Amino acid sequence: MDFTQYNYERVDLEQIKTDFEAELVVIETTTDMATMDQAMGRIYDIRNDFETMATIASVRFSIDMTDTFYSGENDFYDEAEPVVEGLVSKFYAKLVASSLAEEIEAKYGTHLMNIAKLTVKTFADEILEDLQEENKTTTEYSMLVGKAQISFRGETYNMSRMSPFLLSKDRDTRIEAQKAVTEFWVSNEATIDGIYDKLVKIRHRIATTLGYENYVQLGYDKLTRTDYGPKEVAKFREQVLEHIVPLNRSLIKRQTKRLGLDHLYYYDAALKFNSGNPKPAGDEAWMVEQAKHMYSELSPETDEFFTFMTDKKLLDLASRDGKRQGGYCTYMPNHRSPFIFANFNGTAHDVTVLTHEAGHAFQIFSSRDYEVSEYQWPTLEACEIHSMSMEYLTYPWMKNFFEEDHDKFTFSHSSEPITFIPYGVTVDEFQHWVYEHPEATPEERKTAWRTIEKKYLPDRDYADNEFLEKGGFWFRQGHIFRTPFYYIDYTLAMTCAAQFYVKSLDNREKAWSDYVKLCKAGGSMPFTELLKVADVKNPFEEGAVATVVEKVQELLDSIDDTKL
Ligand code: ZN
Repeated sequence: MDFTQYNYERVDLEQIKTDFEAELVVIETTTDMATMDQAMGRIYDIRNDFETMATIASVRFSIDMTDTFYSGENDFYDEAEPVVEGLVSKFYAKLVASSLAEEIEAKYGTHLMNIAKLTVKTFADEILEDLQEENKTTTEYSMLVGKAQISFRGETYNMSRMSPFLLSKDRDTRIEAQKAVTEFWVSNEATIDGIYDKLVKIRHRIATTLGYENYVQLGYDKLTRTDYGPKEVAKFREQVLEHIVPLNRSLIKRQTKRLGLDHLYYYDAALKFNSGNPKPAGDEAWMVEQAKHMYSELSPETDEFFTFMTDKKLLDLASRDGKRQGGYCTYMPNHRSPFIFANFNGTAHDVTVLTHEAGHAFQIFSSRDYEVSEYQWPTLEACEIHSMSMEYLTYPWMKNFFEEDHDKFTFSHSSEPITFIPYGVTVDEFQHWVYEHPEATPEERKTAWRTIEKKYLPDRDYADNEFLEKGGFWFRQGHIFRTPFYYIDYTLAMTCAAQFYVKSLDNREKAWSDYVKLCKAGGSMPFTELLKVADVKNPFEEGAVATVVEKVQELLDSIDDTKL
């Protein structure tokens, strides 16, 4: 059976509640570990059934947001998910309070109990309606951006298909394309400001109802960060400011010179080479063939994994109108199937999205035997190590995808820890500001964004683009709307993935075996423990950022980019 044949039926929420609550009574009252095991097992079954149907509906909706059936189903899960979240929170509360708590911890691990304790704090029945409203409001944002129709030179394009024009070798095309995209954000400015303002207010209300001062710590707790907090993240951002921002500025100088420009404006920034950015040498079907070949050579584990993905049609890669933006990987537990979603548009990003999402999918595929669902996926910063390291571990095959553009790809992709991380921490610091100032107006938020942007990305010059100059760039960053405080995860993970890159150049076998170990460990440990399994430096440790980026800088210095 392949994905198109996976059965979908809306779950019976009342039945779920009844069954779940019956098991909760057993968990609360039993003093017998065998009975406890069975009740926990049944709860995991109920959760898996729900998750499977909710995920099938969500994938099918994201593939075609104009499909009225799955749009309705998606609305249903926007309301149903918080209900199940509430049940799971009760399950955790009962585990923690159980007279068998010590036995549970001995059998299932301390990490499960830590997750349970943390998650209990993030839910109360009083916030149910606010959670439903929050889901609906983030869906509004996704639909607005996913359905965007941008008029450009007499044609209309969705957001993703505008990308090639934004990267064009011709400066006038880039300028015009930026104007067209800005038009969309400006004409929807009031709506998007309204959506975000509503989200911030809902989230602040949820936080205070739960007894938090504001949404910041709640955001961290919801991401089940059991081993670090805002203080550690603030120190990481300081390391970035000190060690990465200057290197990024010198890379921007190199880029300006390479492009033969006097000054780099925002519309030039995405173009890395005068001869054009690297492009994959074929279309979607061709790239999937290349990927099959690559994963069959990379290792027996990846061969089995990617054959499963293609046989079961678990990839939807092409960009189409009405499709949700971006890329993601998700998982349907009852089919033991990951799913990869992307919006290919003919740029190098197609290849990195494919290897990136395949990294996520390979991890869940490797850890899907954990009975405890909490251990199948780790926290998101650890997840991004799987995905980003896969981008680096597949380097030896990139010449097949890029052919004559291979050197350009290597140079620009290897630069990413330096070029991306300053942007990543900008997104993070902005969100701290937003949730620490819940009463701020939309205008004040934009001003705050621009101030933070100037600190980490001092070379961004928005020329005469008033909207971006007053601080509107973040409108396009969906994570800010959908999952607060998620974005820093990419920067933490990139600091780790860069170490896998360096390690793979020194000792490929060790790099690969550490990677497989990490993937198999799934979410059975918190982030900083997983780093030990992977044998990589903890990015929060003083000096870690500097050591990692120095190596990356050395690699870049060894390439004569003026010839690319
Ligand atoms: Zn990812």
